Amino acid sequence: LPGPLAEAPQDADIAALLPRPGAESDKYRRGLLAVAAGSDRYRGAAVLAVGGAVRGGAGMVRYVGQEGVAADVVRRWPEVVTAVQDPADPVAGLPGRVAAWVIGPGRGLDAPAEAELAAVLESERPVLVDADALTLVSRRPDLVRNRKGPTVLTPHAAELSRLLPGSEPADIAARRLEYARRAAGEYGCTVLLKGSTTVVADPDGPAVVNPTGTPLLATAGTGDVLSGLIGALLAGGLAPRSAAACGAYLHGRAARLAGRGAPISASDLPGALPAAVRSVRERG
Ligand code: AMP
Ligand code: MG
Repeated sequence: LPGPLAEAPQDADIAALLPRPGAESDKYRRGLLAVAAGSDRYRGAAVLAVGGAVRGGAGMVRYVGQEGVAADVVRRWPEVVTAVQDPADPVAGLPGRVAAWVIGPGRGLDAPAEAELAAVLESERPVLVDADALTLVSRRPDLVRNRKGPTVLTPHAAELSRLLPGSEPADIAARRLEYARRAAGEYGCTVLLKGSTTVVADPDGPAVVNPTGTPLLATAGTGDVLSGLIGALLAGGLAPRSAAACGAYLHGRAARLAGRGAPISASDLPGALPAAVRSVRERG
């Protein structure tokens, strides 16, 4: 994605970035994504994040979590492999051979969730941090600042205000680019700030302003689908900024295609992702 200060990509820019399976591809080379989302209390977050990953083109998705939640995930997405965790030792069950991680949606804020997050962030693989995991990072910023691998943070304004103490959500919503850049600088990683206009910022270089967003997305669970989708793109080898920009672009396009002007729910989004990819390729 070229350009000076902040720019809006178009179909052709996104089409050029999206991974395309080649003759020599296999599921591992296309990218094994591990998803640590959902909990007994928030089971749907697991199903939605995994849906974004599966329909977003991951070579393989491994769901990491508790047994009952894993069963829900596999019932909805039978192509997913599960790694069932021991609640007493959540770190012992973490798979090693993954291309990228998604962690946080519906995961909770308890001590096991924090131990799991610390262990995942210790890996050198790309990690997308969302939702509850962002709240944990706001308590322990070192977990992200000291990472060796790439990180993508995907806060909405309230989550970003926790990450930047002293800031107010309303201020953030009014000065989105400025705050996204500031957070990227302070955490040394890619920050995708969600909301009415989604922006992607890196510590250096131009930010990306997503042009496909729609208020149709303002409904529960859509952010969880976005996390899985960006995770799939990271696992597919895209750089963090490209994965975040492509994910936001496809997410908005999928909402428009799924709704055709009418309201949608988050569950509609994964199924609309292939059509979103097709439309980006055709128009690009
Ligand atoms: P979350 O805040 O995690 O629930 O995610 C909500 C998703 O909906 C994000 O992708 C937001 O960018 C998107 N979204 C929320 N409100 C709006 C809005 N008013 N216009 C466009 N997109 C929105
Ligand atoms: Mg969210």
